[in-house]
Amino acid sequence: MPELPEVEVVRRGLAEHVVGRTVESVTVTHPRSVRRHIAGAADLAARLTGQRVASAERRGKYLWLTFDEPDTALVVHLGMSGQMLVQPAAAPVEKHAHIRAALHDGAELRFVDQRTFGGWALAPLVEVGGSLLPEPVAHIARDPLDPRFDAEAAVAALRAKHSEIKRVLLDQTVVSGVGNIYADEALWRAGLHGNRLASGLRGPVLRMLLTEVGAVMEEALDAGGTSFDALYVNVNGRSGYFERSLAVYGREDEPCRRCGAPIVRERFMNRSSYSCPRCQRRPGGR
Ligand SMILES: [Zn+2]
Repeated sequence: MPELPEVEVVRRGLAEHVVGRTVESVTVTHPRSVRRHIAGAADLAARLTGQRVASAERRGKYLWLTFDEPDTALVVHLGMSGQMLVQPAAAPVEKHAHIRAALHDGAELRFVDQRTFGGWALAPLVEVGGSLLPEPVAHIARDPLDPRFDAEAAVAALRAKHSEIKRVLLDQTVVSGVGNIYADEALWRAGLHGNRLASGLRGPVLRMLLTEVGAVMEEALDAGGTSFDALYVNVNGRSGYFERSLAVYGREDEPCRRCGAPIVRERFMNRSSYSCPRCQRRPGGR
């Protein structure tokens, strides 16, 4: 599952190579990739044809394109393995290219998705809190990289949540874009165990945690951005950040980079959580 920094790399690629181009035709070759577009493949193709792409937008891990026609967005679900590739129309078609949009400049925007959990769907744009969002994204909170992210409001919302802080970070309603990896990294930086109750944490502690969430994403984006090739918009694979600088995630039994204690792995929400048993004390003791 791509996390926010990977999705932002894709968005930047689309902004550079797709925005301003007009869609000349759309070909759908796998029905699963348009299953979220209830009106079907022919409707999607007809409505996209002739549209000029106005912008590439993102909130949290959600990605969409807008068009000169103002009321509609193309929501791109990357799923587990989705890629948005911009290729010359004459380039060989990838094995798992399930949707292809021919652009007027001779390029083709291709949605390649081996596992077919992702897809494209048109959705109406609605106004929420001063921003225009596709309807399926309307409930998603701003992410920490959003210039209009309100940290004080997020702290207040976190303090009202009587559930574990990691669970709240992951649920996308107070702050969006935080996946398992970045949650673990930010909690380690803040010295907090993910099972601590959000409502039991003081304002300054939560503020620091949100700062670390933003910082860890910025660093990942800096690292992930370096692997971006001019004509190849690719979300598959791990960012450079993944290999280089993770402090806890995936480091079971390796020494904590701060205190040397072996990192522990625990089950949390059917996933693995990594933490330092010394720097991040578990609530209730152990
Ligand atoms: Zn430690």
